[in-house]
Amino acid sequence: MTPLIGITAFPQHRESETYSALNENYTRSVRNAGGLPLLLPFDLTAAEAAQCIGQLDGLLLSGGADLAPQLFGEDPVRGVNNISQARDSGELALFAAAAKARLPVMGICRGCQVINVAMGGTLIQDIPSQVPGALGHSPQGLPMHEPYHRVDIVSGTSIMARAFGGDLAVTNSFHHQAIRDVAAGLAITARTRDDIIEAVEGTDPGWFVLAVQFHPEGQSQRQTEFLNLFRLFVDAARQYASRVSEIGEFQH
Ligand code: MN
Repeated sequence: MTPLIGITAFPQHRESETYSALNENYTRSVRNAGGLPLLLPFDLTAAEAAQCIGQLDGLLLSGGADLAPQLFGEDPVRGVNNISQARDSGELALFAAAAKARLPVMGICRGCQVINVAMGGTLIQDIPSQVPGALGHSPQGLPMHEPYHRVDIVSGTSIMARAFGGDLAVTNSFHHQAIRDVAAGLAITARTRDDIIEAVEGTDPGWFVLAVQFHPEGQSQRQTEFLNLFRLFVDAARQYASRVSEIGEFQH
């Protein structure tokens, strides 16, 4: 059985119209991990989001531009741009419905930040201006597949530790925001040596939540460890689907 994985698109403004767009690395990574990707438009209403979640086996919140700082009680600093209220509200509605159903969720970059804010956490709005002495996290001109900075993985049985089989990864990095206060219900599982949080995971053993600040979809075709993150997510989605079908049969 192939789990159905909804992936959020982002608003892309082209010459004449705005598109719901997505880098194909996301769909390829989900396929290579055994899932069936399904694109979700960026501007879903709450009712539409809930209906989508009812049809899905997993939710992947993709990367993209900044979240509106109002969502965690702040006004934007100068480095914040490209916010989209339509995308923010669509993704928060998807996450709320997924949380209610305990649907497996994976968040990448912006998606990592969406998960933390949705669960009550806060963000560093702009690393270069708000974190003196921070390492580079948004290098110019590098391809997505290029390993950039070291990430220390908290040892134990986390998804990160299982995917990488150790306590160190070298990841790409394309973000200027990051998690500041970690939401209750999430635990840090990886960080860089300047203490920027690079991965958090859900603490509820009955609900798969994985949020990473780097872009594993850009590295998954060259390094199996990054594909492993998608495999563990798709495995959780498969288990979710089989639980749902058991409950369905029981009710018959
Ligand atoms: Mn980084």
